[in-house]
This record gives sequence, C-alpha cells and structure tokens, in this order.
Amino acid sequence: MINAKQAKGMLKHHIATWKGKFPAAHFEACEIAIEALEMQLPMKAEPINYNPKGDYYGLGCPNCSEIVGQLDNEDASGIYKYNMYANHCPNCGQKIEQNYTEEDYKRWGI
Ligand SMILES: [Zn+2]
Repeated sequence: MINAKQAKGMLKHHIATWKGKFPAAHFEACEIAIEALEMQLPMKAEPINYNPKGDYYGLGCPNCSEIVGQLDNEDASGIYKYNMYANHCPNCGQKIEQNYTEEDYKRWGI
C-alpha cells in the first residue's frame, strides 16, 4: 500500500511521461487527484490574529486561514505553547501538522 506522498509522486510522473499522448481530460483528472492528495499531506499552521496584549496567537490553516489551533503565553513565562484543535481544517479539509519544533517557533518569529 502506497501513501499519499508516494501516490502524488506517481501521478506527477505519470503526467510528465504521458502528457500529449492521451486526451487532456486524462491529465485534468490526475491534477484533481493530486489536489485531493495534497489535502491529506499535513501542512504547518501559521500564526495569525496577533493579540496586542502579546499573550495569544491563533494558528491558521495555511490554505484558508481558518483557526486550527493556538499559541499562548498564559503563564507569562515568555514561552508560547501550542494547542491544536483538530487534525483537519474544519473549513477546507486540509490535514494540519500536529507537532511543532523550535525551528517552527524561530520561523514564526516568536
Ligand atoms: Zn483550511
């Protein structure tokens, strides 16, 4: 059984190999399947909705900005903790990464 990432790679290879040799609709079908597979590959949420008090950030879906978690500094330690609400975005269905590292915090500038 292959996973979503492998399936996406195979479809892309299929397009690259056979485009122009089959009717265009065939490749449109592959593109639709790739888009659907991408929803199953976890993407990292991004901080949005900064609270001016500086103790809370919403974590938004990278596709549609729907809030899928939060970062908060409720204990005022200066260390933000993340709390994810769901595995998939309730608005668009994108699978959301559930685990974040120091690198993510650095990238977020927090
Ligand atoms: Zn979304």
